[in-house]
Formats: sequence, C-alpha cells, structure tokens
Amino acid sequence: MKNKILNILKESDDFISGQKISDKLNITRAAVWKYINAFKEEGYEIESISRRGYKLISSPDILPYEEIEKYLNTDFIGRDTRYFDSIDSTNKKAKELALDAKEGTVVISEEQIGGKGRLGRTWISPKNKGIWMSIVLKPSIEPSKVSKVTQIGAIAVVKALENMGIKSQIKWPNDILVNGKKICGILTEMSGELNMIDYIIMGIGINVNLDEKDIPNDLKHKATSIKIEEGKYIDRKKLTANILNTFEKYYIDFKKDGELGEIIDILRESSILIGKTVRIITRGETRFGKVIDINKDGELQVEFETGIENIYSGEVSVRGIDGYI
Ligand code: ADP
Repeated sequence: MKNKILNILKESDDFISGQKISDKLNITRAAVWKYINAFKEEGYEIESISRRGYKLISSPDILPYEEIEKYLNTDFIGRDTRYFDSIDSTNKKAKELALDAKEGTVVISEEQIGGKGRLGRTWISPKNKGIWMSIVLKPSIEPSKVSKVTQIGAIAVVKALENMGIKSQIKWPNDILVNGKKICGILTEMSGELNMIDYIIMGIGINVNLDEKDIPNDLKHKATSIKIEEGKYIDRKKLTANILNTFEKYYIDFKKDGELGEIIDILRESSILIGKTVRIITRGETRFGKVIDINKDGELQVEFETGIENIYSGEVSVRGIDGYI
C-alpha cells in the first residue's frame, strides 16, 4: 500500500487530493493521511494544502524497496526487501530470517552498528552513506562451491560500477578497490551440512558517499569511498538496483551447473593481484608468492619457492609486500 501511495504521488505533477487517493486505492482518507505522515517522518518532503491535497516535493536519499524498485529489473533478487533505518548487522538479520525467506530476499539498512568483516573483524557502516545489504541465496550446489558466490558478487559490483562509469578492481577474493583502496567488502556465510546447503548469506558493504571524516584514521591507508575517489555524490538507489540486476544475471547462469564459466575472464581482467608478489596470510602464517592467475574454479594460483599452489578463499588474507596492496 505504501508503495502504491508513493507511486501515485510521484506520478502526479500537481497536487492530488486525499479523496482521489483514497478512491483509487479503496482506503479511508484517514489512512491516506496516516501514510503521508509516515512518509514525512522518513524524510519525504510533501506539501499539503487543504482542499487541494498533497504534492511530493522531494524524496529523501534512502533505500527502501519503493525507492529502488523503479531501477530494478530482476526476477527474484531484491523482490522481497526488508529495509531498516538502523540494525546491528544485515548478515545477522538475514540469517535470522533465512530459513523462512524466499531466495533473493534482501536485508538492507541505512546503518550497521555491529557490521562485520571476515573473521569477526569490524566493518564500519555509517548512516545513509553506504550500501549495507545482505542477500539470501539457496542454490542447490555443494558447500565446497560456496566461495564462488563471493566471486559472482564481486563481479556484480564491478560491472554495476562500470555501468555507472566507475572503474574498479577486485582484490581476490572479496574486496573491491577504486584507485587501489577498498570501497567494498563481501562477506559470504553459509549454513548447511557436509553435502547440502540450507542457505547462503552474501553481505555486500559499499562505501558510497562517505567523506574523509567518516573513515577512521587507522583505515585511511587502505579504505576510501566512491565519492572521495570520483569527487561526486553517487546515487545509492541506482547503484543498489544495478548491483542486484547484475548479480541476478550471473547468478542464474552459475546455478545451472555450479561453475563460474565465462565470468572467470572478467575476474581475471578485474584482478589487481595477477602478476603481483604478495603476502598470503593463513591463520597467523605468512608466506610470499607471486600471483600467476585465477583458475576456472576461482582459486588464486600462486607461485611459491616450493612450487605452484591453488589457494582457495577459506581463511586467507592477501596483502601487498609492504602495504595493503
Ligand atoms: P580483508 O579482506 O582486508 O582481510 P575483511 O574483508 O575481513 O578484511 O574486512 C574487514 C576489515 O576491513 C577490517 O578489519 C578493517 O580493516 C577494514 N574495514 C572496516 N570497515 C571498512 C569499510 N567501511 N571500508 C573499508 N574497509 C573497512
């Protein structure tokens, strides 16, 4: 209903009376009035004049489904979106509702106060500045293939940014960089048994319109935002929809056979690591090696002194020799 009222307001160039809205939707005028007040609370600027009705002056920069829908062309990703003003973590909420939720359900919040990176690390998620969302997925694939979903998420972000004229690269396996600094992290979590997945939660956190002051000093050497790098404000609604659209396209292909297929080429082209000497950190152990390629399973091929090894994303952190990258 909320969505319908908003659409009516958006479609009317002039004032529209409460009576007309209530007739169209078969609800009382009091109900219309209640919704209008709720919109105002959310930051919609609505002018109301007695006997003329309501007119939408401006929409706030927020990400409820009603705002993203017009850019969305997916079949199932994001069609059930649970929107929050503030939340501890979108991944946590997605896990809570995953078993009863349809595949493609999205949890999105304006801020996270307990946002998480890999290995329980903190993910800062300031209010109204980023895209903090998690997608519930239920593919029938083996648990060993789950890390590929992260790669598909990464490609979706890179391609969505490209559609909006922004160049980015992937730091295998789960970070997206602009000008060598991190603007996005992906955290994929799974619940299932040895040979069966109940669900996957793919969390995507993107620093969209953060300013310098929003980035803690100890992260400044490796973290940035799209706005800082591009020097302009980015439309979060369009970017959110763009990512969901792109993700669905690649994900549908992936579900057919559980293989990455053609997107391996995009992963290779977008990789910031190929050809670089890096530190590979696994549970406290650090080794140096040269990244040769990404193989067809999305694993990192690294040449160590002892020979070539395929590294799968598991619990590995990759760093440049003497810095983040
Ligand atoms: P990595 O892949 O770099 O090992 P994670 O993917 O686990 O790290 O992400 C968590 C780390 O990212 C944190 O420990 C912190 O250093 C950094 N970080 C936290 N919030 C942000 C953010 N909004 N943007 C970029 N980096 C962040």
